[in-house]
Amino acid sequence: MASTISNPPVIVLSGPSGTGKSTLLKRLFADHPESFGFSVSHTTRGPRAGETDGVEYHFVTPEKFQELVAENAFIEHATFAGRSYGTSIAAVKDVTKQGRACILDIEMEGVKQVKNSDLNAKFVFVQPPSVEELEKRLRGRGTETEEAIQKRLSAAIKELDFAAIPGTHDKIIINDDLERAYKELDDYIMGLLA
Ligand code: ADP
Ligand code: 5GP
Repeated sequence: MASTISNPPVIVLSGPSGTGKSTLLKRLFADHPESFGFSVSHTTRGPRAGETDGVEYHFVTPEKFQELVAENAFIEHATFAGRSYGTSIAAVKDVTKQGRACILDIEMEGVKQVKNSDLNAKFVFVQPPSVEELEKRLRGRGTETEEAIQKRLSAAIKELDFAAIPGTHDKIIINDDLERAYKELDDYIMGLLA
């Protein structure tokens, strides 16, 4: 029987698109299926091959997204590479009410908003070994158009500059070797739950 946590933490994972956040998180959820829940964000981008509505994201129209903004449904929301993304209050509650630690995977503007919210969160930044390697991973994933790759790379420079400001994150993990980076993430996050 899974034990629940009385005051489950909220953990915010961020880092440039293509750095390996989803890869690391998939593994963390597989290794500790009872401990965590993923905050399922809303987005106006379309689903990639293999993505399911309500699992990776709630895929919505720009009109629906604006309705949710007007209803104050979001803890934070931002535009990234021309699309809207947001974390709803309901998405976080769905996880924490089960006594599970809630993990958010969000970009920099969202991180800033969560920092200004009343959520008591821990902030983890996943950094690529270099911008060249990041570009290789983004291209290798094969999910983006050339225009989207360029937008994501220019956002990456800003995210790396932000993360370089001392104190913006509680933990920075360089995702060079996947095994090593995963172990560092697992140790840090399981330490928060102990
Ligand atoms: P993000 O969620 O941060 O956008 P992904 O998890 O989708 O990034 O990873 C982007 C690509 O990089 C994927 O094809 C993934 O398999 C690959 N990748 C992730 N981590 C590593 C790593 N440590 N070394 C090499 N490739 C990696
Ligand atoms: P992708 O389109 O690759 O799934 O995500 C693009 C970027 O949007 C990533 O940096 C991801 O962390 C971020 N993102 C995903 N969901 C949210 C969200 O709810 N809010 C914010 N601010 N960013 C998000």
